[in-house]
Amino acid sequence: MKKKDIREGDTVVIERAGDVIPHILNVVLDKNKKRSKLFKPPKKCPVCGSCIIIDPDEVVVRCSGTYICEAQIVGRLKHFVSRSALDIEGLGDKQINLFYNKKIIKNYGDIFKLKKNRSQIVNMEGWGELSFKNLVEAINDKRKIELSKFIYSIGIRFIGEKNAQIIAQAFKSTDIFTRFYNNDQDVKKDIFNILENTDGLGPKAIESFKEYSDYKDNRNQILSLIKEVNLVISSLQIVKSPITGKKIIFTGTLNSMSRAEAKSMAEKLGARVVSSINKSTDILIAGEKSGSKLKKANELGIEIMNEESWRKLSLL
Ligand SMILES: [Zn+2]
Repeated sequence: MKKKDIREGDTVVIERAGDVIPHILNVVLDKNKKRSKLFKPPKKCPVCGSCIIIDPDEVVVRCSGTYICEAQIVGRLKHFVSRSALDIEGLGDKQINLFYNKKIIKNYGDIFKLKKNRSQIVNMEGWGELSFKNLVEAINDKRKIELSKFIYSIGIRFIGEKNAQIIAQAFKSTDIFTRFYNNDQDVKKDIFNILENTDGLGPKAIESFKEYSDYKDNRNQILSLIKEVNLVISSLQIVKSPITGKKIIFTGTLNSMSRAEAKSMAEKLGARVVSSINKSTDILIAGEKSGSKLKKANELGIEIMNEESWRKLSLL
């Protein structure tokens, strides 16, 4: 808007670009028409009044009231039921707006307690016994939730599907996950220790996951949600191997497979893949052009495996 001096009420020339969002080419100036003032981004969130944050690396203007802002709470509820998350049929943006405004759904757990609002809902415009029954059934169908999907669905910033999968793997049981949200300090320490040593998870995602769980209201919401659902961890079929239970690290380039393939292979063989090397690391798998990690492994006396031995192992 700044670059092309686009203002509210302007007539613009657009062209089709991509699928949805048209590309604005220029403003059509009309001497007889008074233009509005230059647009200035708000300093405060129009919904909750919190300060606005503008990250210089992004074009997004963001409200800082992450967990208190009603617009963001509703946004997360919509994400929670959306197709990529829990995918609850008949519960979309429209219904979330409606139920939030009527204070029927204020948090994730309320979705699974909808039954108690029967008399209120069946009497609402456009609703009846049948549509209510169908919705309750659709919700009940989604009570069994895989942990990684659960973590993705609660809508923590920087935790997309892939990061949610990585984080879920740090929890060996749903009981540990519950203890984590009960603010069990030992469990929290363990989990963050694992996450910080996990390949593929950036510091922004870890920080965001931590910030979410540091906020008491979030923890209470998660705990009451856990009571309503059946959280499951589909156990990975682990093949017993010489590296089962070992902490391993990859370095250099593997010619026979990608790093991601190697990692999932290692997990199938029961090993834990870490990203930084120290004396608790058991094995270093060194591909081509191994540098500082190989040197360090030698210094620490860590077992080193070349690609050929790794490949043989992975054939198990
Ligand atoms: Zn806000």
